[in-house]
Amino acid sequence: MDAYALPYTFSQRAQKLTSSTIREILKVTERPEVISFAGGLPSPKGFPVQAMTAAFDRVLAQNPQTALQYGPTEGYAPLRAWVANDLKRTGAHNVKPEEVLIVSGSQQALDMLGKLFIDPGSKVLVEAPSYLGALQSFSLFEPAYVSVPTDDGGVIPDALTAERAAGARFIYALPNFQNPTGLTLDLARRKALVERCAQLQVPIIEDDPYGELRYAGEPQPGLLGLGREAGATVIRLGTFSKVLAPGLRLGYIVAPRPIIAKLVQIKQATDLHTAMLTQMAVYETIKDGFLATHLPVVRDLYKEQCGYMLDAMDKHFPETVSWTRPQGGMFIWVTLPVHIDGTALLARAIERNVAFVPGEPFFAGEQQAQKNTLRLSFVTVAEDKIRTGIEILGQLIKES
Ligand code: PMP
Repeated sequence: MDAYALPYTFSQRAQKLTSSTIREILKVTERPEVISFAGGLPSPKGFPVQAMTAAFDRVLAQNPQTALQYGPTEGYAPLRAWVANDLKRTGAHNVKPEEVLIVSGSQQALDMLGKLFIDPGSKVLVEAPSYLGALQSFSLFEPAYVSVPTDDGGVIPDALTAERAAGARFIYALPNFQNPTGLTLDLARRKALVERCAQLQVPIIEDDPYGELRYAGEPQPGLLGLGREAGATVIRLGTFSKVLAPGLRLGYIVAPRPIIAKLVQIKQATDLHTAMLTQMAVYETIKDGFLATHLPVVRDLYKEQCGYMLDAMDKHFPETVSWTRPQGGMFIWVTLPVHIDGTALLARAIERNVAFVPGEPFFAGEQQAQKNTLRLSFVTVAEDKIRTGIEILGQLIKES
């Protein structure tokens, strides 16, 4: 027997999983002396601890038998109804509660949608760049990614040609304050995108975790409402991670009923249902309009943090560098001169105790990754550290 043979065999799917070199480099960001712009964590200052404590207490006092029992796979009915009604704010006016499936975070939704739509080799359209966590989820099902180019205004609808879209199982789109670029689609692009998808019969997965965190500019209608008007199939993902807290692991999928029915089968096989106690406590927290007073606090906080970073970048980054100015959300995307590789810059930044995520892993598909890019997250870092960290990055870029 081979001395190195293992007494077990992983599936081919699992064997293909690799841990990324960047993840390895970023392990050092756990050291307290590192100023990390790498994380994608919401600010704990925005967690509504008191309101949630009271809500969990009330649920356990008033309705413990339901909260602690198994529940329906579709989710807690009052919460589904709340979500359906709340979508009016995004311009989707007649969503039925039966079109809402409660999930354990939108990351679970991405995994379930991978299971639902992707066979090995299926064409999947993604923005270039796109959310890394979605690429990780979809990749387990071995799609053939085709990237749709983006510019300063986000994904370019005209780039979704019939040839590019032919046979695609879906397009994965992030219209608000995209992760990683922070970019937002304007109304014209939103309309053009849903019309093209209706015409080409490509379902849209609209992932919108940050839409409620707008601190500048005017809210734009969501792809769900626009798409339904245009005759496109839109599957919308939402989450309570950024408006309440990510530790709740609570999100939802909105989709036409036949899609929900299949997703219910998939979710049943995955985890039966999302925790009833969590669903009931979140419903108890938000049912009487709590978010209308809570969200402005979070938006102000993020706006302030974003301002610190943009201000420091204006001061310390050379003119050869450009970056996005987000109207909401948590990320700024930086484009360096073409000869500077973001991963190489990270290695040097780590030596100076500063971290960020290089742009390369956010690109999938045939389009070449723009290696001269990086993502900065500003929400959890204190003002003085933002200023120090950006000054150091500015120096390193100038030295490159
Ligand atoms: N989609 C996007 C674009 C995200 O940025 C995140 C969180 N980083 C998620 C989905 C997953 O969020 P959750 O599972 O916490 O709802």
